[in-house]
Amino acid sequence: MTDRPAILSISSKELDAWLASRAAPAYRRKQLWGWIARGAASFDEMRDIPKPLRSELDREFRLTSLTPVAVSQADRGLTTKTLYELDGGHSVEAVVMRYADRSTLCISSQAGCPIGCPFCATGKFPFGRNLKANEIVEQALDAARMLPAEGRRLSHVVFMGMGEPMANYQAVIESVRRISDRELLGISPRRIVISTSGLIPRIEQLGHEELAVTLAISLHAARDELRDVLVPINRRYPVADLVASAQAYADKTSRRVSYEWVLLAGVNDTERDAKELGRLLRGKLAHVNLIPFNPVEDTPYRAPERAAVRRFRELVEAQGLNVTVRDTRGREADAACGQLHERVMKERAVKAS
Ligand code: SAH
Ligand code: SF4
Repeated sequence: MTDRPAILSISSKELDAWLASRAAPAYRRKQLWGWIARGAASFDEMRDIPKPLRSELDREFRLTSLTPVAVSQADRGLTTKTLYELDGGHSVEAVVMRYADRSTLCISSQAGCPIGCPFCATGKFPFGRNLKANEIVEQALDAARMLPAEGRRLSHVVFMGMGEPMANYQAVIESVRRISDRELLGISPRRIVISTSGLIPRIEQLGHEELAVTLAISLHAARDELRDVLVPINRRYPVADLVASAQAYADKTSRRVSYEWVLLAGVNDTERDAKELGRLLRGKLAHVNLIPFNPVEDTPYRAPERAAVRRFRELVEAQGLNVTVRDTRGREADAACGQLHERVMKERAVKAS
């Protein structure tokens, strides 16, 4: 049923008022949120909340607005990708990645993406819509529900799924506040990464939020001429200005900025690129994360050979920069964020024709 609002679509103040109007004590919110954070599947199982109140909650609200429509596993069960249908029919996905010391969730902030980077599966479909804050938080709640049965706990959240988080700023900030709220998921903002293609005014605004989330900049090229093509928003916000605004964020928060670099064979993996990157970032509180391209159909790009990745890494290191190569989790089954969605969209298109 889509007529009832999702419980997290109302603010904590609205929930408090709703509880008060039912003569329920204020601590019921804490109990309710505790159950939600522990992954309750229904209001009815919230045993320390009186039965009449549980029934009333169930009549008025849904626990989540997300409907899982496809789940795929990869890396021998270490990666789980879930595609969710949103109210109104758009869909987004989230990916759980299990490591020895942490469990990270990659979440979506928009259905589709308006930026249109030519190597990205998400950018290939028409933009759908912005997600609401609760739709973002509910992805994290679903992972928080999945992990305890495995003796794990959701520890990190990265906004690296579908969409440009800075183009849905208010909802993303509100979702970060809720994900980090100790009464809800309690994940420290330091363990939350907002990845952006580079909307400078929003990076500046983020610096004023007193949130101290980790900022990741999708750089991919250090010269405007190439970045204009790979990340089209660069035509509005050129690379030198972008790095200056990220550095201002680093200075303000003392948080090291992470620079993402998708390695595209023969396009941005040459010695020239490494030198330009060195000139741009040397001496800054920065970390470079190389991501070997995850092939996307109908794009002109190719993944680099292993040896080329190693070589580029060494070239960047030689520039005096801090660099790691990201392990591209989920490569076997639908790979990077955006690609399960691509397959499902194609299947739908085939069915519809
Ligand atoms: N829109 C934001 C966040 C989502 S994309 C951004 O661009 O930063 C998250 C990361 O995945 C970005 O660094 C993006 O460049 C990268 N990415 C997109 N498509 C990819 C692909 N096919 N292979 C590897 N990385 C990809
Ligand atoms: Fe959007 Fe990020 Fe994909 Fe570019 S890489 S199209 S900004 S999701």
